[in-house]
Amino acid sequence: MSRSVKVAVIGAGVSGLVAARELTRERHNVVVFEKNTRLGGTWLYTPETDSDPLSLDPNRNKVHSSLYPSLRTNLPRQLMEFLDYPFCRDIERVDPRTFPSHEEVLRFLQEFGDEFGINELTRFETEVVKVERVEDEGGWVVESRASHGGGVSVSREVFDAVVVCSGHNVAPRVAEVCGIEKWRGFQMHSHNYRVPQPFQGQVVILIGYGPTSFDISREIGLVAKEVHVSVRLNPARKGMKFQDFGNVRFHPVIKCINEDCLVVFEDGVTINADSIIHCTGYKNELPFLETDGVVTVDENRVGPLYKHVFPPTLAPCLSFIGLTELESVFPVAELQGKWVARVLSGKMVLPSEEEMMKSIEEHYQFMQQNGLPKRFTHYLGPSYSQLDYKQWLAKHLGLPPLEDWRDAMFTHIIKNFVEMNGGFRDQWDDDYWDAIINNTKLLHSS
Ligand code: FAD
Repeated sequence: MSRSVKVAVIGAGVSGLVAARELTRERHNVVVFEKNTRLGGTWLYTPETDSDPLSLDPNRNKVHSSLYPSLRTNLPRQLMEFLDYPFCRDIERVDPRTFPSHEEVLRFLQEFGDEFGINELTRFETEVVKVERVEDEGGWVVESRASHGGGVSVSREVFDAVVVCSGHNVAPRVAEVCGIEKWRGFQMHSHNYRVPQPFQGQVVILIGYGPTSFDISREIGLVAKEVHVSVRLNPARKGMKFQDFGNVRFHPVIKCINEDCLVVFEDGVTINADSIIHCTGYKNELPFLETDGVVTVDENRVGPLYKHVFPPTLAPCLSFIGLTELESVFPVAELQGKWVARVLSGKMVLPSEEEMMKSIEEHYQFMQQNGLPKRFTHYLGPSYSQLDYKQWLAKHLGLPPLEDWRDAMFTHIIKNFVEMNGGFRDQWDDDYWDAIINNTKLLHSS
């Protein structure tokens, strides 16, 4: 028999939206807490930035989204859809491009929210400040702070289960650079980048080379005197070669800032720069979660978590959705949401606590043996021995395997990203991929 429980979902981004839908489909009683004014999470653009450009001051005014106005998706829209809710490219859409603007993603999420009634389940402008298991009260106490119309009200409510969907691009991570204390130039994190104009005529150094740095280097390159990008090669990028273009140059990691305040790269090149932008990603943070040390965040490893979702000793009443990286969050969060919803309703059963811990230990051991730092714990892909994660979820849920074109497309986009120097979005071969996707659909329907 199916059980219905009262569930708190924290966050109304991609993960929270699809988790809420899956939980309601399983007839759970769902409340979504969202500190922002609207749904969308990362995709809700704001021109505001953190009050501290490096985002180090714990007392700074914080904003959630890191989007800049020019941002277009770094994945084709086919990879940013839910498995049963397509993100179509049809001309009826405001931005029908395969790699659309951020506004188009927000529109898509809004449509999804409207279709499945998620707005009605959501308490907006309500930040969860504490989540704690209280035995005497028979569940999880969620304390929240609502700020409507200038007033603030605090509330405390008991839930049977909590699903954390608060995002993992939370606290900007700043690179450690030897001698940085001597630096007198300007420093910021890409989280607070919006437009290139402040860098007009400058020599700018970008630390890190993910999709954000890719975009910013090109955008700033149009106005700056020179742009220098410092790239660290992680296991997923072995053998990749980055080619200089225009006034953008690539370098290895920074060795130090020397006595003359010059930036010294590991290949011995020195640069007299005006600004440094840290494009070095984010740290996981769960400031509201109190589990007496059962679940910790250590160098971006949220753990211990069975298959990135369930902490063995607190499962199934505490779960996490959307922590994985290097894979589109949309289908993964959808499958994770189905899993959590069905385990909570009793339709699926988790392995024993010991078995879940054993699986986690094996993963940690693999990482250690292969020299992978803890911060890669939630990275999916062959280099991290987690190629089949979404297939594992699908199989476990009794669903058909996900189509092969998804992995092929993802691999292709990473290759293009490096090789095509800026054209990876607009030189995308839509006809080729449409044919592959349509053939797969035909195969599946025959
Ligand atoms: P988020 O989108 O971060 O949502 C978390 C939500 O939780 C937010 O709404 C937040 O306000 C809320 N929240 C957090 N804490 C609390 C609290 N205590 N109380 C109440 N509410 C809370 N992915 C792609 O697939 N394609 C792309 O092109 C792409 N580009 C990106 C570009 C940038 C600059 C960044 C930063 C990320 C990009 N991503 C991209 C990844 C992106 O993070 C995912 O697409 C997706 O938005 C993650 O959704 P999420 O729901 O897990 O987290």
